[in-house]
Order: sequence, then C-alpha cells, then structure tokens
Amino acid sequence: MKSVAFCTLGCKVNQYETEAMLELFKNAGYSEADFDDFADVYVINTCTVTSMSDRKSRQMIRRAKRLNPDAYVIVCGCYAQTAPEAVLATEGVDLVLGTNERHRIVELCESKTRGIIVKDILKTHEFEPLEISKQSGKSRAYVKVQEGCNQFCTYCIIPYARGPVRSRPLDEIITESKKLVAAGYTELVYVGIHVASYGIDTKEGDLADLIVKLNGIEGIKRIRLSSIEPMTLDYNFCEKIKDCDKLCPHFHLSLQSGCDETLKRMNRRYTTSQYAQIVDGLRQFFPDCAITTDIMVGFPDETDEEFGKTLDFVQKTAFADAHIFKYSRRKGTPADKMKNQISPEIKDERSKTLAKICEKSRDEFLQKHIGRQLEVLFEDRNCRYFEGKTANYLTVFVETDEDLSGKYRFVTAKSVKDGAIFANLTE
Ligand code: SF4
Repeated sequence: MKSVAFCTLGCKVNQYETEAMLELFKNAGYSEADFDDFADVYVINTCTVTSMSDRKSRQMIRRAKRLNPDAYVIVCGCYAQTAPEAVLATEGVDLVLGTNERHRIVELCESKTRGIIVKDILKTHEFEPLEISKQSGKSRAYVKVQEGCNQFCTYCIIPYARGPVRSRPLDEIITESKKLVAAGYTELVYVGIHVASYGIDTKEGDLADLIVKLNGIEGIKRIRLSSIEPMTLDYNFCEKIKDCDKLCPHFHLSLQSGCDETLKRMNRRYTTSQYAQIVDGLRQFFPDCAITTDIMVGFPDETDEEFGKTLDFVQKTAFADAHIFKYSRRKGTPADKMKNQISPEIKDERSKTLAKICEKSRDEFLQKHIGRQLEVLFEDRNCRYFEGKTANYLTVFVETDEDLSGKYRFVTAKSVKDGAIFANLTE
C-alpha cells in the first residue's frame, strides 16, 4: 500500500482542505504517514500570509526530499498559487497545484504529472468541490462554507491567492454537517477565507440565515464561527441569531488597528466608533460572550500618536484575548509600496507594549469566571491535566486520571494562570 504524508501550514481553511485531500487519498487506497517519516508521496499545503510562511514552506519541501529522495512531492495552497514558478524551482518539487485544483490531486498523483497546474484565481467563480466525512480531531470538526475575499486590505495577499468570494452550496454544508454529527462530532467550526461574505454571491441567504438553519440540525451541540468581519455583526444580524442556542458566544472580530487614519490606509471598511458599536451590540445580545481580535502593529506610516490611539482603544474595548501581528511586507500588495516602512525595532517595542494591555484585559475576563460552573468540551491530556474549551472559547485545565477526551463535563473555575482557567470537575 502506498503512503502519503501531509504538512499543513496556515489557517483553519488550509487544515480543512488537507483533511479533504487526505480523505481522497485514503479512498484511493493510500495509508497516511507522519510527515517526519518515510512516505511515497509528500503534500505540502502552503500558506503565504507572511514572508516567514513562504520560507517555512520551502523548508518543508526540502525536508520531504531528505526523508525520501525518490518521493513524489506535491506543493499546493496559497504560496503555490501566488509564486508557482518559484515553488517549482525549489529542488525536489514535482507538482505545483493552485488553490482551486486540489480536488484533482489523486488523479494527478497517480499519473505522476509534473509541472504547474495553477489557474488565474482572480477569474475563478466556482467553489471547489472538496468535502469530508470525518476528521483527525477528536472533539471538533471544521466545515468550510466559503472561499475567497473581495476586501483587498492593502497589506493582504490573500485575495490574490484565493480569488473572489464563492459561497458553498447550502445543501452541501447541511449534508456535511449531518455526516460529521453521524461520525460523532458535536462541535462544528464553520470556516472560510471571509466567512462574513457567505451568501453575497448566491440567493441562499446570508451567514445569519445559515446559522439559523444549522441550529436546527439534531446532534450539533456547538456551532462555532471562525474569524469574522466586524461590520457583519450589526443589530439585524444579532436579532436574527439571538435565539440560536447552539451558537458559541465567542466572536473573533479582526480589528487590526484602533486608529481611524491607520484603518483608512489599510482599506479596512469600518471606523473605531463603528467597531465599538458592534462590540457593544454583541455584549447586549450575548452577555457572557468573548470578543477576541487580531491587531497589527507597525503598519507603514504608523506614528507614535496613531499607535497611542490603538493602545487607548484596545484598553477601552477590553478584549478577552488578542493575536498581535507585526506588519509583514507582501510583494504585490499596495502597502508594500508605501514609503514610510516602520523599523523592526519599533515593531518589536509596539508589539510588547500592546501585549501587556491585552494580557491584562484577558486575565480580567478570565477572573470574572472564577467560582462559576462552566461546561467544558475536553480534548487532550496535558501531563496530569486534561485540557478543554468552554463555549466562549476559554482554555480550561482539570487535574484528573480520567480519560475525558471528546467529553462534555461541568467544572468549577478555581484560578487563572498563563491565560487559562484551572478548575475542578463538579460532576
Ligand atoms: S478581509 Fe482583508 S485581511 Fe481578511 S482575507 Fe480579506 S483582504 Fe485579507
């Protein structure tokens, strides 16, 4: 039996697509090998969000060839889509697949096709037919609902790697969700490149309509949304979903900057006061919800004064958690051509300053849960603890010898440490 090994870089969408490609190989009789072991075929599913991810992709290609010099090596994903010639020029690569050709991966592998199979993704309007019926995770599964992005934020390469918005047919999403429930998953995470755009290109309703339909599926216990564009979650949206009892009260709203001038240069489609209104609305509709975010420091032309505005806004908003990114130049994006690029030293400094504020509000949010009963979906053992997540995405550890993987249990929150809650099982 031939073996295939996957290395996946980047986002939840890439992870979903790897699961789908792996299922195609398994259905064709391949066994799965670990990427650190010998395999007949290696697939590197790449990311290109930062120059670091490009470098990482090339490292993985070289590692595959070292493990088996005779292996057939396929490189797919965003880096392959945006720089196919450079990828093919990397020693050891046999096939370069774009972000709309993964469904043909087994057929091309079996025929030992060599070269580049990459389409002009900006002219692509069909949703690639990839699907899954089970996943390697034990407790939660991803469901891809949308592809592409039409926003063109000035720092972002993704629209050039993923193309315009394409929503997945509604019946496919429902069918796949039911299959995953039948396979034993009770928490489903709905992912996409720009989930907020779901439905703008079809007549099957928008994201709120989709959530209402998913809420009706028997056997789903938790509906979780991946990162979402702030402006989608306006009053009407919240009004539509407020009674969806399975929707996890965790909203990851990318902010990127707390300064209106910087947001404008980023081509982000909201102001800080509009963002604040959305956050207030969510906290009214979902009192216990966790609002988390992404913030970028060191965007070109970002002055100390502008960064100061970001610090004030982030402090006022009191996020439950935040991912802080240093601006990374991406060739081909408008921001890469902007004159006043910020030095790495200033980016480091600003990132550290912002992290302190974010950690403080994160711990304050966690402290609010001390003494409360929380329902946790447990995932993996971590030394003498078992680790899991609450519905509002808090990490919880309980000390136990019991195997709690994939189980829901109630705990009492006892203490906060390193961004997590330590708790006791209460039943
Ligand atoms: S919304 Fe902006 S940052 Fe997000 S994928 Fe689209 S262009 Fe990139």
